[in-house]
Parts: sequence; C-alpha cells; structure tokens
Amino acid sequence: MDLNGILIRRIYFPLMEIFKGNKIRTYLNYLHETEKMSAEELKRLQAEKLKGLLTHCLTRVPAYKEYEFLLDSVENAPFEVLTKLPVLTKKHFSENSELYFPEGQSKQGLIPNRTGGSTGEPVKFYMDRKTVEYYEAARWRGLSWWDIRPGDPSVMLWGSPIELSQKQRWSYELKERYLKNRIVISAYDLKESELERHVKLIEKFQPVYFYGYASALDLFAQMLLDRGITLQGKFKGVVSTAETLFDFQRERIERAFGCKTINEYGARDGGIIAYQCPEGSMHVTAENAVIELLDMDTLQPVKQGQSGLVAVTDLNNRVMPRLRYLIGDVAVWQKQPCECGRPLPVFTEIKGREDDIFVTTAGTYVHGHYFNHIARNLDGISKFQIIQKDRQRVHLKIVPGNNFNEEEIRFFAQKIREVMGNIELTVQYTDKIPAAASGKVRYAVREFPLR
Ligand SMILES: [Zn+2]
Repeated sequence: MDLNGILIRRIYFPLMEIFKGNKIRTYLNYLHETEKMSAEELKRLQAEKLKGLLTHCLTRVPAYKEYEFLLDSVENAPFEVLTKLPVLTKKHFSENSELYFPEGQSKQGLIPNRTGGSTGEPVKFYMDRKTVEYYEAARWRGLSWWDIRPGDPSVMLWGSPIELSQKQRWSYELKERYLKNRIVISAYDLKESELERHVKLIEKFQPVYFYGYASALDLFAQMLLDRGITLQGKFKGVVSTAETLFDFQRERIERAFGCKTINEYGARDGGIIAYQCPEGSMHVTAENAVIELLDMDTLQPVKQGQSGLVAVTDLNNRVMPRLRYLIGDVAVWQKQPCECGRPLPVFTEIKGREDDIFVTTAGTYVHGHYFNHIARNLDGISKFQIIQKDRQRVHLKIVPGNNFNEEEIRFFAQKIREVMGNIELTVQYTDKIPAAASGKVRYAVREFPLR
C-alpha cells in the first residue's frame, strides 16, 4: 500500500486548498465533467470562454486595443473575430511584452516564468495561479485516463534544477519525495555505471508510472535492453513529454519498461495542449485553449489531414493574454473522432521539439535541455544553438539580443564546461540560425552517434 500517496491525497491536497487556495481538484472535477459533453456542447463552452477573453483583450490589453472595432461581433461570432486578429510570434511577443499586460494589471502576486522554447528563443512571461492550476488539472485529467491518480508514486527522468545550493537541493529532494511522491533521476547526468543502482531504486520505490523527455526515456530504455534488463513491474505507463515521440522510441521504451507509452504534449508557455488516451489519440485540451492549425505560408486554417503551425489561445490566462500564439510546433488534425468517445478534438501527428543528448568526455549523458535551462536565464541571448561535433569539440552559436553582454557568454561557456569536461569550445556570433530540413531550428544538435 502506498501510504505516502494516501497522505498526499487525504491530507496534503486538502490543506493546500484551505491555506493556499489551491483549486486543482476543483478544476480537475470540472474537466472530468466537460469531457462527458457532446462535441457541440463543448464548442458552446469554448465560445462562451472565448467571448469573455476577447472582450477583455479588446478593451483592456494595449496590444489588442486597436481591434476594439471588432467588439460588436464578439457576442455572435467569437471564433470569426479571433481569426481576424494577428497571429503572435514569440519574437513579437518578447519584443513587445509590456503591451500584453492589461491596463491596471499589477505584476504583484504573478508568477514569472521563462522558456527556452522549441526554437532556442528564450521568452519571458507572467502567469497567475489559476492558469497554472488549469494546466496541472489538464495533466491529471490525461493521466486519469490511464488510471493514474494525483499523488501516485512516479519516477521522473528529468533535468534537476542546477542553480540550487546544497541546502536548497535537499529541500527540493524532500519535497519531490514526500509531497510529490516521486524520485528524480537526472537527465543532465546519466551514467551507464549507475544503471543498476537506478534499477534497484525503482524496484524498491515501486512507481506507478515514469515521466520524462522522449529522448532520455529512449536512452534509458537502450541502456536497460543492452544489459538484458526489462522493468516488468506494475507500471501503468511511461509518460513522454517535451519532445516529439518517434515510433522507434515508443517501441523501444515499451519493450524495456514493459508497459504503454503515454504521449503528453505541452509547453511552458502554452500549457498541457494535448494528451494521449488509451485508444492512442492525442486529445486537445479544448476547455483550456482554442487551438488552431495554420498554413505555414498563408497563416489560414489548414484542412484536416494537412500539417499546420500550432497557434494557442489560452482561455484562462487574463493576466498576460496571448491570442493565436505560435508555439513553434506543427500538427495535423485527425478526421475521425476517437473511438473512446471523448469529444475533445484529436491530433494525428505532432512535430515538436527534438533535443539531442550530448556525451561528456567522461562518457556521461547530458540531455540537451541542460543548455536551454542555462540560456533561458541569460537576458542577452536572443537565440542560440549548441552543436557537439565529437566528444572533444562543441560549437556554440549566439544571436545577441538587446541586453547582450560578454559576461553572460563567459558564464554560459563555464556552465557548458562544467558538465562536458575539458572540451574545445568555439563561440560564433551570428544574426541568424538556419532551420534544419524539418523546418525547425534545433538548439541542441549532436553530429555523431550517441552510443
Ligand atoms: Zn480517445
């Protein structure tokens, strides 16, 4: 029996609701109700939320006030009004972010956040608790489809925070272990020599599910299979997130972990956008956001079956609203509704971020997100790309931003050497980082086989 999980559900969550006003369970119940609606009812619910958001933006948000003339149409045709507004790129948002605060909105009490983004373009923004809690509720709703409950024990293959002191680290680990009921295996410091220790820890801890970057889970699966280890436990699934999950990775992960892979599609600056159901469909969280797929050239909505840029309009975010925000990914709408009966629209395919894992001079694996983690806190970098040529050579490309200063680049280089070892590091300043053949800019690229 998982005593820790019971304590979290029965004591910790209710206390958080009383003392911190946490509403995740309320929002989760709401999402459980809305997923029982018909597709038409769901569309009406979305329209009502969109009307409120558009009225707010057109009357109070400086970036959208020039479209106030559309206000009269909002009541009868909110979706049409939305399509008349411009799409928002990360670059435009970053350069004009102050215009996205509603008039009279104080930053006090808001949650600052940053993202390295899928294109290596750091974006700074603010959120409120309500928006964050709706994201969390959407994740728990998706996990509930797999019979996974909040507080269930999990193992996370993840980038652990790098900026913490020893004392902060202990506090982080205790919080993870006892308040979140999960243990973290660092994807920034993964060693083959420690595999058996990890396996013993997993067997002792008995997680219900795993959670991690697609590429890191796949690497872990390869390491297990090479040693003839399969984790045939009672796992309900392995949740793959933050990156495109390729079929070859899914197959290998399922073989090594002995359970199904669950694809989660989300973004720091977009929330939990879609979740895979047991029938295999990626269901969009339509209660939280209007998702459009737009043609790459015309920016008009694409037909079913065609790929389009994912544009997110978060329906809960009123403190720094972004309408039709291009998240940097590409997806395809599925024609048929899912056989599971849920009314939520379905993506057939998502092409998101692809991160490479780097190998240090000592043979340790470092997930590419490590570099993103550092860069997002450096104000002077507009874009970057880090390329591992071979085990000894790393090349860093930097597009300087408005607040560029060399000190930050020296700091970045030092952080790279801290994990990679005594490598030869070259730095190049440029004004453009070209996209790969897939059309996406990859910020972490390794130019040789991993193993
Ligand atoms: Zn389904």
